[in-house]
Amino acid sequence: MQEKVTVLGLGAMGAVLAHLLVQEKQEVTVWNRTAAKAEQLVKDGANYTNDIHAAVQASPIIIICVLDYKVTYDILRDVDLQGKTIVQLSTGTPQDAREMAAVMQSRGALYLDGAILATPSQMGQPSTPVFLSGTEKAFKRSEAVLKILAGTLMYMGDAPGAAAAWDLAALSSMFGMMFGFFHGARIIEAEGLQVAALGNMISGISPVLGEMVKSTADDIQQEHFTSPQSSLEICALSFELMMRQAAESSIAAPFPEFALGLFNKARAAGYGDERLAAMMKVLR
Ligand code: NDP
Repeated sequence: MQEKVTVLGLGAMGAVLAHLLVQEKQEVTVWNRTAAKAEQLVKDGANYTNDIHAAVQASPIIIICVLDYKVTYDILRDVDLQGKTIVQLSTGTPQDAREMAAVMQSRGALYLDGAILATPSQMGQPSTPVFLSGTEKAFKRSEAVLKILAGTLMYMGDAPGAAAAWDLAALSSMFGMMFGFFHGARIIEAEGLQVAALGNMISGISPVLGEMVKSTADDIQQEHFTSPQSSLEICALSFELMMRQAAESSIAAPFPEFALGLFNKARAAGYGDERLAAMMKVLR
């Protein structure tokens, strides 16, 4: 079905979103602060206007992908949003989402907050993940259009902050592993080995890492901290070894230092013979 859709923001991500919609023969209007970024889209069939009021009036569904929420408030300051379905795909915090949901509701719009968990080149695939939350009516109204952008839409319910919370939690999990990998790569380099081979190895064992996260999450959910197969103390000792290896090889060790600091707090709290999940009690 052809929909009228407006895309506000044609940065690296917004331009790809607009392009995918044009490709799927939607009636697309685009607006961007810097007009030049719309040139290719216009050649491909999008309508461009430099008037934000006209851009919003052109379509019932408005997709926003600008730098952040502050820019969103700035560009929509005096714009009539009555009856529009607004989908915010700029990245923010749960609080940003809640505040914007309240403002959009007061201005007569349906609001859906979204978080894209992919890079521009990964958009438009069946597996592309996007978290969404906000009024179900807004989700249903925009679902078909959003499916063009990302095949794996995950609607997390009507609490507007949920998508941003899921996004930040997923980013933390992902980049947390990356920092561990970076230190691993320094160990490999220090021994004259190949970092690419470490990448291959970690990729190969990724299902095991996934299982470890999943079972630890279950332990936390059930407050199940005792009877470990490998105790928190055993895990802490591997970081003692990393610190010693770093000194022996003269490499910097900010990541093991940080982790050992938390392990030492857990030890001091008496959690050494508990499961790794007991770290959660330190963080709480
Ligand atoms: P870019 O930096 O490429 O684009 C930023 C966009 O915001 C441009 O359209 C820019 O306009 C606009 N903008 C910035 N400041 C202002 C302002 N003061 N007034 C009006 N417009 C402004 O960023 P991306 O496209 O990469 O990211 C956009 C959003 O998407 C971000 O929130 C990002 O976190 C999110 N995102 C991006 C991903 C990625 O991999 N790129 C992945 C997941 C989410 P102009 O062209 O005029 O500068």
